Amino acid sequence: MTFKELNISEPVMRALEEKNYDTPTPIQQQAIPVALQGRDMLGIAQTGTGKTAAFAIPIIEHLASNLSQNRKDKRHIRALVLTPTRELAIQIEEAFACYGKYTGLKHTVIFGGVKQKPQTDSLNRGTDILIATPGRLLDLISQGFIHLDTLTHFVLDEADRMLDMGFIHDIRRLLPMLPKNKQTMLFSATMPTEIVSISKSLLDRPARVEV
Ligand code: AMP
Repeated sequence: MTFKELNISEPVMRALEEKNYDTPTPIQQQAIPVALQGRDMLGIAQTGTGKTAAFAIPIIEHLASNLSQNRKDKRHIRALVLTPTRELAIQIEEAFACYGKYTGLKHTVIFGGVKQKPQTDSLNRGTDILIATPGRLLDLISQGFIHLDTLTHFVLDEADRMLDMGFIHDIRRLLPMLPKNKQTMLFSATMPTEIVSISKSLLDRPARVEV
């Protein structure tokens, strides 16, 4: 199987070709067609499997195809990726920057432990895709810098690690702030009871993909 057979658009194909990606990894082969249909997804996969592209490519495809109408307007956040660590957040932003480089989509990454001004400046310039760690996200929401009412795509990445790192309370606070009508993808390497419970309340008839 090739990326072309997954119906990836020309601008994203061009970026993938530059990276010399020709074959989708097993998680990408399973997840991309399902996510492109707009279905919710439960992905059981670890880092290193190519799971970032498995959620990033379908999100880019959806957002890029709806870009033209509001190209000149200030962009509102349409995709949120929540991940437990600063390192993962930076890697995920790099993935969106890379696969989306020919689409004109804008992205911002936020995490704690650094000054918030460069992050809020980036948000104020307008952003389509926000990659965040939980604490800084809640902080900037409470200060009024972030509004999530225009969200159409949500990814909860490394859910089991969120639990291990004590972010479960933050996540439970955040979830009711998200609009109901959206595509949600939850990724976790393992499925402890708490994550099963969150996935049941968060996902609507999800496709389950596992590698
Ligand atoms: P991830 O599991 O998302 O952290 O990805 C692991 C690594 O695999 C990253 O360095 C990606 O750039 C790389 N990668 C992802 N998809 C592919 C692919 N289809 N072909 C080759 N490398 C890939």
